[in-house]
Amino acid sequence: MNIINPATEETITTVAEDNSIAVQDKYHQARKGQAAWQQVPLSQRIETIRRFSDLLEAQADALAKILSSEMGKPVSQAHNELKGARGRIRFFIDNSEKWLAEEWITQEDGLGEKIVYEPLGVIANISAWNYPYLVGVNVFIPALIAGNAVLYKPSEYTTLTGLKIGELLHQAGVPKAAFQVVTGGSTAGKALLELPLNGYFFTGSYQTGKSIYEAVAYKMVPCQLELGGKDPLYVPDDNADIAKVAQAAVEGAFYNNGQSCCAVERIYVHRNVYDNFLKAFVAEVNQLKIGKPEESDVFIGPLARKEQVQVLEAQTQDALDKGAQLLAGGKRADRKGYYFEPTVLTDVNHQMLVMTEESFGPIIGIQQVSDDAEAIALMQDTSYGLTAAVYCDTQQKAEEILAQIDTGSAYWNCCDRVSATLPWSGRKHSGIGTTLSYLGIRTFVKPKAYHFRK
Ligand code: NAD
Repeated sequence: MNIINPATEETITTVAEDNSIAVQDKYHQARKGQAAWQQVPLSQRIETIRRFSDLLEAQADALAKILSSEMGKPVSQAHNELKGARGRIRFFIDNSEKWLAEEWITQEDGLGEKIVYEPLGVIANISAWNYPYLVGVNVFIPALIAGNAVLYKPSEYTTLTGLKIGELLHQAGVPKAAFQVVTGGSTAGKALLELPLNGYFFTGSYQTGKSIYEAVAYKMVPCQLELGGKDPLYVPDDNADIAKVAQAAVEGAFYNNGQSCCAVERIYVHRNVYDNFLKAFVAEVNQLKIGKPEESDVFIGPLARKEQVQVLEAQTQDALDKGAQLLAGGKRADRKGYYFEPTVLTDVNHQMLVMTEESFGPIIGIQQVSDDAEAIALMQDTSYGLTAAVYCDTQQKAEEILAQIDTGSAYWNCCDRVSATLPWSGRKHSGIGTTLSYLGIRTFVKPKAYHFRK
């Protein structure tokens, strides 16, 4: 596999892809390793993860540069990601003992009942490239803490980061057999589906998630899917500071070049505040600096994948053909690398791909609505269900609207946000299952119910 720098289109290095024999070999080692890792006391497993977090902190500069070079994220945003990942690890360190401890339910009249949480066994973590640290730690950290072995397949677009994660976990004290990095793309991923694993934990697109769900269904083991979104943001007319809202919406739509599962992907604005919002939004977009990821004030780097440039071109052209207006961008940037200009389209509707298909890039459609009811109907008009945001002055109004939207996360005056203490889950085509929060600790164990009669 050639590892390409998307900012320069040059090959950084070449890495061997694991074939099915190599993947099977890693599986056999993991099976043995899991039995031993489970025997390590929970407190020691947690200490190991603490050391891993310390290593992430100590090596942050080098890790941020590696991530940035292989997927194009500005180095400053790579640092933010590493910091965020350490925050999530801290949550698991602080809370796992409580949620994995055995629980006595009844101890009376000669009857004892308790629940013991046992690890699932050997699991696969097939991951995405957009936030390899954040989406990775959601899975492999609680999985390892709970005593599972992990076959971790990073995306082929963040292979070097994946290998580094493996190296640092081993350096921290996780046995090599208990955490194995599987390198490669879909062929290596499919090889994992062939193995008799005890769980599949996937982050990626709906199309791949669906094929994995179908492929492993007969095994009757947990299969968790964290998939894409087409996340809406609504701006009703009770907004005292519309410029502030526009600024937040730009950040939500364009951070990480729009390559976030919970990026704002479509915006609806009440007609009473529409013109002011557009003006402020476009002014803000025009401030975004495009450039080399290593430059400190760059906000928009290259896209991670060359093919996505064509997807964005096609969405723009489709919208323009159907009557949309282009207020900013609309084309690939005139420079080397997979750059696309931050793009704003208005006069859009749900006949257009930009309002219905995941864009996963720096492009946004803004649609005017007459009232809240129209906004709610449009927000709901999607096969996805990851997040939805409402920006307005009253929490009650926002809550009333958000209660009617079928998503795993609901935001008032914030967006594109994940919290370690809250469950992270998608609905409909955005996935199934939960990571983060106490629920995301319990995701990686199976309960055993003990009944004791004296
Ligand atoms: P992708 O589906 O192309 O690939 C994801 C992973 O699956 C990669 O490791 C890839 O090598 C592997 N893979 C590909 N085909 C496979 C197959 N047939 N069998 C097994 N494995 C296979 O997704 P991507 O481009 O890496 O990630 C972008 C997508 O991920 C977007 O849709 C985004 O919204 C979503 N995402 C969701 C979340 C979330 O928490 N819900 C987080 C991050 C990204």
